[in-house]
Amino acid sequence: MTETRMEAIFAAMRSRRPADIALISKAYKFAEEAHKSQKRFSGEPYFIHVFNTALILAELGQDAETIAAGLLHDTIEDVPVDPETIRAEFGEQVLFLVDGVTKLGKIKFLSRPGDHRVESLRKFFVAMASDIRVLVIKLADRLHNVRTLQYVSPEKRARIAMETIEVHARLAERFGMWHLKEELEDGAFQYAYPESFKRVTELLRDREREDQARLETMKVKLTEALKERGLENVEISYRMKALYSTYRKLLEKQMDLSSIYDLSALRVVVPTVEDCYKVLGIVHGLWTPLPGRVKDYVSTPKQNGYQSIHTDVFARDKSPVEIQIRTREMHIESEFGIAAHIAYSEAGKPKEGAKLNRKLHWVRQVLDWQRRVAESESHEFLENLKLDFFKHQIFVFTPKGDVIELPEGASAIDFAYAVHTKVGDMAAGAWVNGKYAGLDSVLKNGDIIEIHTRKGAKPSYGWLKFARTTNAKRKIRAGLVIHGVQQVPQP
Ligand code: MN
Repeated sequence: MTETRMEAIFAAMRSRRPADIALISKAYKFAEEAHKSQKRFSGEPYFIHVFNTALILAELGQDAETIAAGLLHDTIEDVPVDPETIRAEFGEQVLFLVDGVTKLGKIKFLSRPGDHRVESLRKFFVAMASDIRVLVIKLADRLHNVRTLQYVSPEKRARIAMETIEVHARLAERFGMWHLKEELEDGAFQYAYPESFKRVTELLRDREREDQARLETMKVKLTEALKERGLENVEISYRMKALYSTYRKLLEKQMDLSSIYDLSALRVVVPTVEDCYKVLGIVHGLWTPLPGRVKDYVSTPKQNGYQSIHTDVFARDKSPVEIQIRTREMHIESEFGIAAHIAYSEAGKPKEGAKLNRKLHWVRQVLDWQRRVAESESHEFLENLKLDFFKHQIFVFTPKGDVIELPEGASAIDFAYAVHTKVGDMAAGAWVNGKYAGLDSVLKNGDIIEIHTRKGAKPSYGWLKFARTTNAKRKIRAGLVIHGVQQVPQP
C-alpha cells in the first residue's frame, strides 16, 4: 500500500530528480509514522489526508519541497512534532512552508459575513505574501477536507463549507487558479447552502442532458471539419458551467435558466494563436454566429489576464451555444493560474511560462525574475520566487472585503478611483482601519479603507500630487475638465 501510494505521487510529478524522490520518500515515511495513531472522522488513518494533500500538489505540478511540506503540513499542529526536528530533517525551506500553513490554519473565520471575513482575508494575504507556495498548500489541504466533508458534524460542516466559499475559493480566484476555485466551491456548495443546492441541481437536471447531447453532435461535426481543413493536434471537449458559478449567475438573473448563455460550452484547444482564428472561421462556416457575440480575448485579454476567443452560435435546433477557442498555454494558464507558473519554473521550462499572459501583475513579476535568473538553475529561480512576492504591490480591502491591488506608495485617492470613478470624483474623506485619515494618506498592505463621498464634491488639482496610479491621475484630470475646476495659480 505504502509503495503504491508513494508511486502515485511520483507518477503525478512532472520532473523526478533523485534528490526530489529522496526528499518526498523521507517526508512520506516521517508523516506516516507521526500520524500513525490518529484517525479522521471517516475512520480512515489520518495519514490519508496528508497523502491526498501531497497528491493534489503533485498534480498541480508543484516542486518537491512543496509536496514534502504537504505531507508534513499537520505534524506541528496535530502531533505535535518539534519544529526543530523538521528543520533538522528536511531543511529551512520545508519548515518555513509547514510553519506558514500551520499559522494560516490558526486564523479562525466566523461564519457571519462582515468584519471577520475581511480580517481573515487580510491575515491570509499578509501571511502568504512571503511565499505563495504556502497558499497553494493551504488550498490543497482545504480541497481534500472539502472532499471528505460528509464525515464531519453538521454544524462544523456548514462552517467549513461557508469559509471555503468565502475565503479559500476567493483566494484561488484571485490568483487565477480557476480549476481549484470551482472544485472548492462545488464541493462546499451542498453543505453551505443545502436548499439552493437542491434547487439548482433540480433545475439543471434536464437541461444538462439536452446540452450534452447537443454538444456531442457538434463536437463530432467540428472534429470532422477541422480534419478536412488539415488542422491537427486539436482537442475538443465540452463542459457544463460549474454548479456554484451557475447558482451565482442564476441569482443575478432572477433564477431564469434560459437567460444564461454560457451554461455549457464547447472548448477547442489548439497549438497556435493562428489556429485559434482559423478555427473561428471554420466554426462560423458550420453554424450561424449570434450577431455581436464574438469576444476576442486573445488579442485583448481580460483584466484578469484571461485569454480565449468566445463566440455564440446557433446550434441546429436554434439554441445558442458558446464556443471557446484557445491555445494550450492559454488553457493551462486559465485553469491553474499561479500554480501553473510555479510548475513551469519547476519543470525548468521558463520559456513556456514566458509565453503565458503578461497582463497580470504577478506574471510580470515572475517574468522579471525569469529574466534575471535565465542562466541559473530552476531552484535558484524558486529562491527568487520565495522573496517577498508582493514587493512593489500592496493589497488593501473595501469594508466588504473586496481586495484592491495598488502599487506601493498609493494613497486613499488611488483607492477611491480604483473602486469607482464616481467614488473618486465625490471623495470627501477616508477612513483607514476605522480611523479618519486624509485622502493623501499612504496605504499599507492589509489596510481596510472606507471612502466618504459628498454630493456636489469635485475633484481637486491638489490630488494629482499624491495620486500614484495612472488610473487615478487620468480620471482626476478628466474630472477636473468635466466639473470645470480651475487651477488655482500658485503664489
Ligand atoms: Mn490538513
